[in-house]
Amino acid sequence: MTLREVRGFAFDLDGTIWAGPHLLPGAAELVAALRRADYPLVFASNSSRYGSEALARELTRLGIPAARHDVIAAFDLVADEVHDRLGSVDLLAIGTGELASALEEAGHRPLPIDRWREAKAVVVGNDPLFDFGRLRAASRAVASGAVFFAVNMDERFPVADGQFDPGCGALAEAVATAARVRPIVVGKPHSRLFEAAIARLGCSAHQTAMVGDNLASDIVGGRSVGMFTIWLEPQPAGEPTTQPDLAVASLIDLHRLWLGGRATPDATS
Ligand SMILES: [Mg+2]
Repeated sequence: MTLREVRGFAFDLDGTIWAGPHLLPGAAELVAALRRADYPLVFASNSSRYGSEALARELTRLGIPAARHDVIAAFDLVADEVHDRLGSVDLLAIGTGELASALEEAGHRPLPIDRWREAKAVVVGNDPLFDFGRLRAASRAVASGAVFFAVNMDERFPVADGQFDPGCGALAEAVATAARVRPIVVGKPHSRLFEAAIARLGCSAHQTAMVGDNLASDIVGGRSVGMFTIWLEPQPAGEPTTQPDLAVASLIDLHRLWLGGRATPDATS
């Protein structure tokens, strides 16, 4: 596989399209060029704070017009994962108010923290108000038999000025350690989100590129479902442990390579 055989693109968001409140260099231009050339694209995010609608609004605000169906977020898949395994249940939602609302809209019943004994499931997303009380309730519930779901296991996510926030994975690991139980993970690198992206694009997996900055989630997961993987590596840090099909320093470089591939004679049929 080469870049010029790719027919559809899935882009990670955090660290790929944006970092904190800013688009990364070349993002708006590459997305606009792919759209002008009628290449289907989708944003495939491990986000555990917000769902596709809020992420699409943020993309639009930053200069990449997007609607809800242009975005697939792990946030939106977790309620279905719980439902597929357990049906509609009483649960503890450790995360943003948006996460609890989404679980409730999908038919689950989020409980107050002090009623952890009644929980049939615990769902952990990124939770800016995470504290000892939430950790205690979640880990006790899981240790007592509630099924443990994590939206993703990302250790960090990039924010402005080269800094990071602790990711959903950092909080889920705290619960896992105290409960002595590993979570069921919904987001990348697990296949559910990639398969949803491929289905949305309408291309075969091997004609679809996964573009992302995280080797452990975007590249490992994309490879495992047969996608063409493009690693955005702004600061080369030696040989990666997982080989992407292509590594680029920026989306400006990816744009240039994509245009170059299209300009060759056998790619213009
Ligand atoms: Mg990322």
